[in-house]
Amino acid sequence: MRREGIRLRKNGRTVQKEMNDQNRGELTDIKSLPYPALEQWILENGEKKFRAKQLYQWMHEKHVDSLDAMGNIPGSLKEKIRRNCTFTVLEKVTCQVSAQDGTRKYLFRLEDGNMVESVLMPYKHGNSVCISSQAGCRMGCRFCASTLDGLVRNLTPAEMLEQVYRISADTGERVSNVVIMGTGEPLDNFENLLVFLTMLTDENGLNISQRNVTVSTCGIIPKIYALAEKKLQITLAVSLHASSQEKRRKLMPVAEAYEIHDLIQACRDYFAETGRRITFEYSLAAGVNDQAQDADELAQLIRGLPCHINLIPINPVKERDFAQPPQKAVQDFQKRLEKYRINVTIRREMGRDIDGACGQLRKRFAERQDA
Ligand code: SAH
Repeated sequence: MRREGIRLRKNGRTVQKEMNDQNRGELTDIKSLPYPALEQWILENGEKKFRAKQLYQWMHEKHVDSLDAMGNIPGSLKEKIRRNCTFTVLEKVTCQVSAQDGTRKYLFRLEDGNMVESVLMPYKHGNSVCISSQAGCRMGCRFCASTLDGLVRNLTPAEMLEQVYRISADTGERVSNVVIMGTGEPLDNFENLLVFLTMLTDENGLNISQRNVTVSTCGIIPKIYALAEKKLQITLAVSLHASSQEKRRKLMPVAEAYEIHDLIQACRDYFAETGRRITFEYSLAAGVNDQAQDADELAQLIRGLPCHINLIPINPVKERDFAQPPQKAVQDFQKRLEKYRINVTIRREMGRDIDGACGQLRKRFAERQDA
């Protein structure tokens, strides 16, 4: 019926496209359904309950890339899925492997042609995957490549999961940690993020421990409170990058909406609610936020808050003129903070030899396509 409707109204390209989008909206995004919702879909479609378990396993445990590969699913059910659902699979476009540390940067194509990038970082304690939560970003941080062309759209839960699944399938190795720190602002895609987190940590799926998941935000305060209410055991990482409202505003437009002291208060409340230490990300830019006075001010700002600071020597982006401080300045900054008994690490620069900063790979690819 639905398909006929589209054929009948097919008059002109724009209309056709609108219809397709509408049509896609009516289809069920089956890979974005958490287990109970999948079970409901199965029952509503006149199938036996155990089929939900089988389907969930094929999608979220075995990570098959097509319906055809689902051995014990009858053809009639596959047909129902084909007719009524979308079945999201990301296509690997490129994978760059760092000769230095084995970091792998993937560029994936979404079904509508948009690109997202994801990174695999092999650590001694296991494989960590960094995923994107949006195609593009609208937060406008001055030093970040991901935001240069604005937000295109939110990613669905399936598109976030697929980044992890394709990487796991590509390497044949288990992924033990997931960080939502790629392109996009996860709290700007809040509902999909929550579904994604539920499914990522579901024992019927990858079964990743919540403690091994980090969500990084530029600091959208109401959403930090909304997340706190969920009482998850994930780590919340907050991109601070400055120790005063004045400096933060210059680096991060989001600070216009949310004042730095209110943000720190939200972090204190988040800790009170969840018992989870906050991670602060602080990207160091030479002469901008890397002085001793900045460290002192930062220590003052977060006083008494159980947290961890991750210093990131800024990754220069060609469209922006920020420079990395010399190594000694980074170490001095760390030592200065440690004097206040703050837990500080310097982020190891993974995969420097393969398209540095986040968003650069996606952007470079887009530029090549345009040329
Ligand atoms: N939107 C989220 C997550 C994406 S960015 C957030 O803002 O936290 C992940 C981290 O990398 C953030 O701390 C971000 O500020 C930082 N980042 C982005 N571009 C960078 C660059 N060129 N150099 C150093 N850090 C960068």
